[in-house]
Amino acid sequence: MLSVEEALSRILAEIRPLESVSLPLDQALGSVLAQDIVAHEDMPPFDNSAMDGFALLSQDSKPQGGHPPRLRVIGGVAAGYVAQTRVEAGTAMRIMTGAPVPAGADTVIQVELTNSDGPQSKWVEILQEVPPGNNIRPAGEDMRSGQTILTRGQEIGAWEIGILATLGYAQVQVVRRPRVAILGTGDEVVDIDAELQPGQIRNSNSYLLEAAVRQAGGIPQRLGVARDTTESLREKFSQAVHADLILTSGGVSVGDFDLVKDIMHEQGAINFWRINMKPGKPVAFGKISGVPLLGLPGNPVSSAVTFELFGRPVIRKLQGHTRLQRQQIEVIVEQDIQERAMRRHYVRAHITQHAGKFIARPTGNQGSNIMTSLLQANALLVIPEGGATVKAGEHIQAIMLYWPED
Ligand code: AMP
Ligand code: MG
Repeated sequence: MLSVEEALSRILAEIRPLESVSLPLDQALGSVLAQDIVAHEDMPPFDNSAMDGFALLSQDSKPQGGHPPRLRVIGGVAAGYVAQTRVEAGTAMRIMTGAPVPAGADTVIQVELTNSDGPQSKWVEILQEVPPGNNIRPAGEDMRSGQTILTRGQEIGAWEIGILATLGYAQVQVVRRPRVAILGTGDEVVDIDAELQPGQIRNSNSYLLEAAVRQAGGIPQRLGVARDTTESLREKFSQAVHADLILTSGGVSVGDFDLVKDIMHEQGAINFWRINMKPGKPVAFGKISGVPLLGLPGNPVSSAVTFELFGRPVIRKLQGHTRLQRQQIEVIVEQDIQERAMRRHYVRAHITQHAGKFIARPTGNQGSNIMTSLLQANALLVIPEGGATVKAGEHIQAIMLYWPED
């Protein structure tokens, strides 16, 4: 059986980032840049004031005979306007934050360091000597025309959106988001609004996977549930092959109705179908009609955990990300972990931070059908193959799904 690492590298070897598309900036959050972003002008575009105050000549701020110099106020300039007159020796101009520094002035003094006769005052006293350039934000201080500010491959977050907006990128080239077809399987599986008949269960997997795909940055498309017949599966797969990735759940084990593998044989190729892990041994990977297919297990916890470990990195790679996996940290287990597994075991756990240490508490019954073990879990503890026992106080690796906020 394949190790988790081998399985992931065999999957990722078959995945290439998708082509790029141009998106309006307000739709680009979370996408990966497919172009370098170059500043086409200086930022800020002009010398401007960092304070409300007065623009003047620095030499005019020197005290004269122990008295603060008094200057004639020749007008004012607000943000969004350009002063039409020059500041000459012996004069000053009222200036607001963000307003262009008027010609002739080489410094700005903040209003708190001046005396005047109110907003209409014709004069101003300068209470402190100020050097040239004081409170002036020079053109190009932040970004220079021609400078590369963001590079291809970088993820666009809210702060990058701000940079792109200030540089005037109304459209950006990004890697296209993958369309992900999601297919349930099983005669017992019915939709979530159906009255349950004896022997039936609701299709929780498709809804969980739809949400998880969306969180990973993909565009999910739920295709319902295939019956346990090759005809039904063929019909559903014919709709799925328009996607960039197909996710199925159930039907990949070794039972009589585990037909997903048969269809993969028929319409494509199987790369592998078992991984040495728990939960989630039956994971099939291959292609049908050239589209990568990840066949996840039917048990809800297995399907959730294997999506996290294999599906999410695939979606991120398709989307152009280079960091595909979550961060792993070392944690201390609070209590013995009772269950031993010969396979690599991913134990759902809640991690909290105490005095600079991360403490892990498993979320109870770790059965692959126990969906409540997913609640409260913000990490997967990685317990090595071979039936290792883990005692309270031991250090162990944890894959962080969410960082503790308390
Ligand atoms: P299978 O691999 O098809 O044998 O399924 C394994 C277990 O997962 C069975 O108990 C199924 O009833 C259950 N299962 C399969 N598909 C789903 C689904 N879409 N939602 C919830 N449980 C499922
Ligand atoms: Mg089944």
